[in-house]
Amino acid sequence: MLIPDPDAPPVTKASLRRVARTFSPYRGRIALVGIAILVTSTLGVINPILIKILFDRALFCAEGCVNLDLLYGLVALMVAIPVVSGVIGIGQTYLSNLVGQRVMQDLRNGLYAHLQRMSLRFFTATRTGEIQSRLSNDVAGVQSVVTDTASSLLANVVIVISTVAAMAILSWQLTLLSLGMLPFFFWLTYRVGKARREVAASTQKSFADLSAITEETLSVSGILLSKAFGRQQHETERFRSENRRLAGLQIRQQMIGRSFFATIQIFFSVTPALVYLVAGIVIAGNPAGAGLTAGTIVAFTTLQSRLFFPVGQMLQVGVEVQSAMALFDRIFEYLDMEHEIQDAPDAVEVPKDTVEGRVRFRDVSFRYGEQWTLRDIDLEIEPGQLAALVGPSGAGKTTMTYLVPRFYDVQEGAVEIDGKDVRGIKLESLGEIVGMVTQETYLFHSTVAENLRYGNPAATDAELETAARAAFIHDRIVELTDGYDTVVGERGYKLSGGEKQRLAIARVILKDPAILILDEATSSLDTTSERLVQEALRPLMAGRTTIAIAHRLSTILAADVIFVVDRGRIVERGTHEDLLRRSGLYARLYQQQFHGGEVEAECEDGVVLASGEVVRR
Ligand code: ATP
Repeated sequence: MLIPDPDAPPVTKASLRRVARTFSPYRGRIALVGIAILVTSTLGVINPILIKILFDRALFCAEGCVNLDLLYGLVALMVAIPVVSGVIGIGQTYLSNLVGQRVMQDLRNGLYAHLQRMSLRFFTATRTGEIQSRLSNDVAGVQSVVTDTASSLLANVVIVISTVAAMAILSWQLTLLSLGMLPFFFWLTYRVGKARREVAASTQKSFADLSAITEETLSVSGILLSKAFGRQQHETERFRSENRRLAGLQIRQQMIGRSFFATIQIFFSVTPALVYLVAGIVIAGNPAGAGLTAGTIVAFTTLQSRLFFPVGQMLQVGVEVQSAMALFDRIFEYLDMEHEIQDAPDAVEVPKDTVEGRVRFRDVSFRYGEQWTLRDIDLEIEPGQLAALVGPSGAGKTTMTYLVPRFYDVQEGAVEIDGKDVRGIKLESLGEIVGMVTQETYLFHSTVAENLRYGNPAATDAELETAARAAFIHDRIVELTDGYDTVVGERGYKLSGGEKQRLAIARVILKDPAILILDEATSSLDTTSERLVQEALRPLMAGRTTIAIAHRLSTILAADVIFVVDRGRIVERGTHEDLLRRSGLYARLYQQQFHGGEVEAECEDGVVLASGEVVRR
């Protein structure tokens, strides 16, 4: 399925060159395919010539006389040629498929590796379905061009040239007659091509919409949402209507192609009759026949029948090549996207065990788009300290933690680890230095052991167990049907929220990062689970610089320093006692969250908390 875009820019030399470069590793094999096509296409012209000789010299060499020796020879050749062509054809199909698949494989690998290194910004701004579609549909579209279109283009060019040459040798008058039809063909193809491009573009968009709907609504979160809001009927309708549109478009697309081929076929059948007519008129006017023997006429119509199909296809190919170039352009567009976050040329490796863990935000300002999300953040966290980030929702806490492992780069100022700007540390090192426990624990669809080893692929079974014990999850794991080999994650065994968090903690214990970022879950666990998670965290944080987006009282109380973030700025800092004494934002938040946070009564424009504070709507 190709994606022609009617508004696509014309095929440029640069993109053609780039496509050529994509194929260049397979030059040798492509040349072989070319030779095979040349041989088989030329062999095809020989047959009609043999027919002429057969008619004129073997079957009807003279009145009632047959030249048997010549007949045997010709028949042998007429049998041998298709056999040889067939065998070469098999090899050619194998080779062209091989090249097509290899190029596709290279493009997919290249795209995937490129995407892996794209910044978080790209993924937050792009629909998952869109990325998947480029990786699968677009690349697959390119493959069909290579194996089908490119080979058929070459074959058709050879067939047309050799056939026209042979026809001209047989009779230039009849050749002119046949070629006279071509302008009509050009016109027809132009019209059909245009219509097909338009329909195909709409089809592709419809495909994308349909897969986006599927992707969004059939994910676990999507289905939960539609169930929770009783919107299944609505979603089904939405899908159904888009699906109806898609089916209609595809039928139109098929029909446009079909009527084109029908026209070609009609020509294909009608022209021999015209040739007989013209030949008859020519012979009647000039009984010497201008060299038009029965053999010539039969050979000519045979040759001509070979011509129309390739011509039709060649004209089609123009449309397909253009569409394929549009696909290549879509792939190149992704490949050309710059990696926003990459190693500076002078970035250095910093081994994890040499890191002390001092974290410094030096006058940091950051924005996702137009508006500043963080402004003039200046703070320092000593090695081994636990720093808690506290603040209202949307204040910028998560964003702050994203700047340390360089999920995003700051616009102003710098984030430093041990006095070194993070942009000067190789990303691979940075990935080793910083560990994260996020709110939502993501587990791959794989065994418990493999999920744990994501933190340290080299960890032994004993180390896995030690980490799992430290995270208070070992006992739970051994209760599972296959213990550490139980498949969890997307379609595997479902662990509870608290268990998943403890597994995530064990994973980071195995990773043993120098700096830990902890985004505490806001969703509350039951008391036992909560306590287990806290107990699991204790050894993880001990002696390790930890930046926690704190939602638990225990974390806040244990923090060496608390930074209170509000609307992108640090508005207060200090220890719990200091901050409480100030009776500022922190004291208020603390009251709401941990003391008297329960709603006591509702008032006209809000609620009254047990602390006496009124929270307005
Ligand atoms: P919460 O406690 O609710 O998680 P937070 O303090 O962690 O909030 P952030 O997630 O850092 O807040 O968000 C800070 C601001 O940046 C918010 O206004 C948010 O809407 C905005 N923001 C977050 N991510 C993006 C993004 N990818 N693109 C644009 N704006 C974003």
